[in-house]
Amino acid sequence: MPNILMVTGASRGIGAAVARAAGAAGYDVCVNYYSNEALARAVVADIEKAGQRAIAVQADTGSEAGIERLFETCDRELGTVTGLVNNAGVVGGQCLIEEVTGDILERCFAVNISGYFLCAREAIHRMSTRRGGAGGAIVNISSVAARLANPFLWVHYGASKGAVDTLTTGLAMECADLGIRVNGVRPGIIDTDIHPEGRLEEIAPSLPLKRAGSPEEVAAAVLYLLSDKASYSTGASLDVSGGR
Ligand code: NAP
Repeated sequence: MPNILMVTGASRGIGAAVARAAGAAGYDVCVNYYSNEALARAVVADIEKAGQRAIAVQADTGSEAGIERLFETCDRELGTVTGLVNNAGVVGGQCLIEEVTGDILERCFAVNISGYFLCAREAIHRMSTRRGGAGGAIVNISSVAARLANPFLWVHYGASKGAVDTLTTGLAMECADLGIRVNGVRPGIIDTDIHPEGRLEEIAPSLPLKRAGSPEEVAAAVLYLLSDKASYSTGASLDVSGGR
């Protein structure tokens, strides 16, 4: 049976690194993207070069209908998922709480919280041994912002990641008897486009390891948690944060 992995937000950054590492590790991969079709297709091409199957599927994980269509497309074109990496995330703009708007909160929470819940639901429907599935593994990408909160920058984002950590704990318990392990990864400052210009250079020297992390360093942790090497880990969250 092939290992089929759904990675949300896999056109760029951490998601793209996870998708490529999964291809190299022998997974077939559903590469979800929102707006960057060309980059998603480049990720697919790299996975195919590694000898695995891959498809690129446009879907907004901030929308329930989009998520349902994403999983149905994967069923049809690649097969039933045995793994999910909930990765697609947005910071939703930089602002003080005294300036935050309903639109900022709604979009940030829709993609970062509701999207993770609804993708998990779709994955359980397909992987649960109680529903005739083969079991599987889920990894939720959180952030050290869940505990640091990021005041004066984006507390709404930190709060959404706090919710992801709670989801990881609860989902792991609900899935423990369904053949599905659920774990989280909390990246620190990772070199991707998510940061405003200059932020990485400003923060890196103050980090314990004195540098930003790479998407590949996060992907290695994700691949470990997905694999049978982590067979006794569920409900865990692993910081990949250079000591931050
Ligand atoms: P990124 O470079 O900004 O890439 C974001 C990815 O998510 C892109 O592939 C984007 O697709 C996709 N995406 C955004 N909104 C989406 C939506 N509504 N539906 C589907 N896909 C969507 O971000 P990143 O730094 O790799 O972050 C990935 C995850 O790691 C996020 O959950 C983030 O919160 C978390 N994280 C990042 C850091 C860091 O320092 N980079 C630290 C802690 C946690 P398109 O390109 O197609 O638009």
